[in-house]
Amino acid sequence: MRLVNIMDRKKVIIADQINEKGIKELEDVAEVVVDTAITQEELVNTIKDFDAIIVRSRTKVTRAVIEAAEKLKIIARAGVGVDNVDMEAATEKGIMVVNAPESTSVTVAEHAMGLIMALARKIAIADKSVKEGKWEKSRFMGIELAGKTLGIIGMGRIGSQVASRCKAFAMDILVNDPYITEDVASRLGARIVDKETLLKEADVITIHVPLTPETKHSISKNEFDIMKESAFIINCARGGIIKEDDLYDALKSGNIGGAGLDVFENEPPEGNPLLELDNLVATPHIGASTREAQRDAAIIVANEVKKVFMGKAPKNVLNMPVLDPETFQAIKPYLTLSEKLADFLIQAAKDSIAEVEITYCGELAEFSRRDVLSRAILKEMLNSILTEPVNMINAPTIAKNRGIVITESKRSEAEGYKSLIKVKIKSDEGDISIEGTATKEPRIVRIDEYWVNVKPEGTMVIARYNDIPGSIGTIGMKLGEYGINIAKMQVGREAPGEEAVMVITVDQKVPSEVIDEIRALEHVYDAVYVQL
Ligand code: NAD
Repeated sequence: MRLVNIMDRKKVIIADQINEKGIKELEDVAEVVVDTAITQEELVNTIKDFDAIIVRSRTKVTRAVIEAAEKLKIIARAGVGVDNVDMEAATEKGIMVVNAPESTSVTVAEHAMGLIMALARKIAIADKSVKEGKWEKSRFMGIELAGKTLGIIGMGRIGSQVASRCKAFAMDILVNDPYITEDVASRLGARIVDKETLLKEADVITIHVPLTPETKHSISKNEFDIMKESAFIINCARGGIIKEDDLYDALKSGNIGGAGLDVFENEPPEGNPLLELDNLVATPHIGASTREAQRDAAIIVANEVKKVFMGKAPKNVLNMPVLDPETFQAIKPYLTLSEKLADFLIQAAKDSIAEVEITYCGELAEFSRRDVLSRAILKEMLNSILTEPVNMINAPTIAKNRGIVITESKRSEAEGYKSLIKVKIKSDEGDISIEGTATKEPRIVRIDEYWVNVKPEGTMVIARYNDIPGSIGTIGMKLGEYGINIAKMQVGREAPGEEAVMVITVDQKVPSEVIDEIRALEHVYDAVYVQL
C-alpha cells in the first residue's frame, strides 16, 4: 500500500469536460475536482486551493484567475489553441502553460484522407442520390488514387501524417514547405518542389499550413489557373487560406475538378454559394473531432501535470519561467535585439533553414544566460512559420525535430563594440548573416560582410548591387515610380566599384512586384523586403 501524506496531496481542478482516461491518470497522484460548470467568478474564488487546472476551450483562465491563484503551478489545455489562457499573466507569475499539440495530428490527417476519398469516388453526392431513390451508376465515375500525385502544402505534423497515408495509397508525393529540408521530406518519401510545380503536377492538393499573412488567400485565381482541370483541393487547415470567391469560380467553371473543405472563412458558412456545388464536399470543422484525439489530449495533459507534481519538466511548455529581475534587466536590450535579428533573417532568407549559427562576441561571450538569447532567436524564427506557439522553452526541441542544426560559439573580440550577436542562416540557396549590438539601443551593424548602422524597425528594402555611379539612383527611382517614399538610406561596401549592400528604410509597404522589378534592374544582384 502506498502512503500519501494528506498534507502533500496536490489538488487539480478540471474545469471543462475531458476524457475519463485523463482524469484516471491524475486520480493516482492527486485530489481531482471535476467541475465542468464552474463560472468565472467561482473559479476566481476557488483557484487558490489548486496546484493545477485543466481546461479545454470553455473556461477562460484570465489574469483575474491567475492573480487569485496561490499555489497554481500549471495550466493545462487539453487541445491545441491557448487563446483562452492569459499567457502573459501566467508567465509573469511563473506558472507553466502546457497544451497537447500532437493530439490531433493523426485525426486531422485521417479527415483529409476522408475528403480525398469522398471526392475521388464522389461518395457524398452518390449517397445523396441513392437516398433520393435514384440508382445513377454512370453519373458517379471516379478515379483511383494509386499512381496519382499528391501535393502537400505545409509538411508539419498533420501534413507528414497525410504523406505517410497517401504513400500507402501508392501516390507520388510532392511537398511545398519553404521551411523544411530535403532530408525531412525524403524521410517521408516526398519530394520538395516550388509551389508552381506542385500546383501544375498534383492531382490532389492538400493544405496544412497555419493561417498567417503569408498564407492568407495564398490559393486564389492565379493558383487555380495553374492547377489541372481534374485536380482536387482539400483544406482541413484554416478558413481564409483559400480565397472562396475564386474557388467558387474555379469549381463552377470546371477549371478544377473538386474541393473538400473542413474550414471556411466564416463559420458556419451560412449563405455561402460554395455549398450549392456538387463538386464540393464540406464538413463543419470536425477535422479534430474524434474520441481518440480528445482522449489523447486528456492523457497528454494529465501526464504533463503529473510530471510537474513529480518535479520533472513537462514536454509542451508554452511559456517561460520568469528570469530573476537582475538577469532580466541585463538581458532585456539583447533579447529585443535577438528577436529583431531573427525576424530580419527569416524574412530575408530564400530557402528552408538547414542551420542556424549564433556567435556571441565581446562581453556577451561571458554572459551566463546566453542560452536565453539563443532561444529567443529560434523562437522568433519558428514562430513566424509554425502553427503552434513556439516559445523559449520549446524552441530548441522544435528546431531539432525539424532537422535544423543549431551551433553556438563565442568570441572575445567584438570589432570595437562592447558586445555583438552574429546570426547566420545556412540553407541550400546559400548563407545570410547579420550582426547587431544593443549597447544603447538595438542596431544592426553588419549584413553579410558589409558594415551598416541601421535601427531594426519599420519597413526596409535591402539590395545587393554593383557599386557603380547611377545604381543607387535607379533603385530610388524604381521606388519613386510606385510612390514609395524613402525615409533613410544606408550603404555598406568594401571598396568602390565592387558589390555593396544598400538598406533603404521606406514609409510604406513595398509590394512584391516592386521588389521583383528592383531585382531585375541592371547592376542589382538581389533585393529583399523586410518588415520589423
Ligand atoms: P505545424 O505547425 O506542425 O505545420 C505547419 C507547416 O506549415 C510547417 O511545416 C511550416 O513549415 C509550414 N508552412 C508555414 N508557412 C508556409 C508557407 N507559406 N508555405 C508552405 N508551408 C508553410 O501545424 P499542424 O499541426 O500540422 O497544423 C496545420 C494546420 O491544420 C494549421 O492551420 C492548424 O490550425 C490546422 N488544424 C486544423 C484542425 C481542424 O479541425 N480542421 C485541427 C488541428 C489543426
